[in-house]
Amino acid sequence: MEQLYKRKEACCGCGACADVCREGAIRMTVDREGFRYPRRTEEGCIHCERCVQVCPVKNRRVERGVSRRYFGVRAKEEKLRSSSSSGGMFPVLAEFVLERQGVVYGAAYGRGMQVTHQEISRREDLAAIQRTKYVQSSLKGIYRSIERRLRQERWVLFCGTPCQVQGLLLYLNREEPRLLLVNLVCYGVPSPGIWRDYVKWLEQKYDGKMTDFSFRDKRKHDHGHTCSYVIEGKEYAYSLYEDLYCSMYFSNLILRPSCHTCRFCTVERNGDFTIGDFWGIEKVKPEMDDGMGTSMVILHTEKAREIWEEVKKDLFWFACEEKDVLQPRLSGPTEVSGNRRIFMLFYRKLPFSIFQMLYRAAAIVRALFGRIHRKTTGGAV
Ligand SMILES: Cc1cc2nc3c(=O)[nH]c(=O)nc-3n(C[C@H](O)[C@H](O)[C@H](O)COP(=O)(O)OP(=O)(O)OC[C@H]3O[C@@H](n4cnc5c(N)ncnc54)[C@H](O)[C@@H]3O)c2cc1C
Ligand code: SF4
Ligand code: SF4
Ligand code: SF4
Repeated sequence: MEQLYKRKEACCGCGACADVCREGAIRMTVDREGFRYPRRTEEGCIHCERCVQVCPVKNRRVERGVSRRYFGVRAKEEKLRSSSSSGGMFPVLAEFVLERQGVVYGAAYGRGMQVTHQEISRREDLAAIQRTKYVQSSLKGIYRSIERRLRQERWVLFCGTPCQVQGLLLYLNREEPRLLLVNLVCYGVPSPGIWRDYVKWLEQKYDGKMTDFSFRDKRKHDHGHTCSYVIEGKEYAYSLYEDLYCSMYFSNLILRPSCHTCRFCTVERNGDFTIGDFWGIEKVKPEMDDGMGTSMVILHTEKAREIWEEVKKDLFWFACEEKDVLQPRLSGPTEVSGNRRIFMLFYRKLPFSIFQMLYRAAAIVRALFGRIHRKTTGGAV
């Protein structure tokens, strides 16, 4: 078995190489941190190098001289916005495609709450692929499925991380007038293996099956800073920063190595639209800030401009400048935590139930030391 990348940082796990190989010579395998990586077998490989050509990390090319447009938006239909993580730009674009008998691809929960991209073609199925899932999504079979749909001359909308969008562009390798590509502003994706262990641990703790997890529950009008989940019909809700898994995510301990060196964390990307949370909406347009989410939208292409003209009737919107939408993940990747190595070492060695206790104890000690340090130094760093 041969690796297709030199260092782990050079593989974002998009799976385009595995989908493009018609000889079935590439398998995605899970490493000890719970991330998927491709492995190439010598038997069956005819050395066509298609797997290298579709790799978004090896082939990141961005069109230069593009004039982009920037907007703040929220869906007029309140139901669409409240069932979304941000301002509901994604479902508005999805409806544009569904109205044309097209298909939409987004991240949904599958068996055991694992996150995979799925295709939908009916409005009643849209909710399953709405909402942010802070877990790396699997695209197994999705590139091929999109290729088939485009051959049938259907409209297709794909929404995912910018590296997934770049992988898809390279996979298709031609202009597709009916393909709409939407990439997210991306903090980085956490380990599906750690997510699986966390779900199992919660299910054991509360003695039942988990049926939903909302990473950005907005019902308190708090910009989605609450997360909630349902086990055996009972709902549990916590602050996003108190939840064990989310705390590991936002402490930069469980992101994929490639996310810490990511070259897609910029405004200059391929694809038609970029969507994210409108950070700083309270300063740029305070009257729009109701705690229920406002999306920032960047139009990159002529196709995006044309579709914008069609969908803007379904949005409350305002035009703005690049500086208004800029946020950390549009100017560089998330920094890795200095504790990631030791964290992963303990994760690999210990059962999750023990590991989570150790993590919590370490977090309490860190918080205490922080407080003592602030008292003795009078807050000076
Ligand atoms: C891992 C991750 C990190 C993010 N980091 C930032 C950030 O730093 N700053 C910021 O402004 N916005 C970030 N976002 C985007 C933001 O959370 C919203 O998803 C985005 O604004 C779209 O919101 P919406 O209301 O328009 O659509 P929604 O209806 O909420 O739809 C969300 C869309 O994201 C897709 N999606 C959800 N989870 C995943 C996943 N794991 N992988 C691929 N696609 C997925 C869904 O399929 C859907 O298309 C991140 C999203 C994810 C998934
Ligand atoms: S070189 Fe061609 S045949 Fe070999 S693994 Fe890559 S895509 Fe498959
Ligand atoms: S195509 Fe994607 S999964 Fe394959 S090596 Fe490149 S980044 Fe990794
Ligand atoms: S941070 Fe970069 S490498 Fe990581 S998922 Fe997002 S786009 Fe891909």
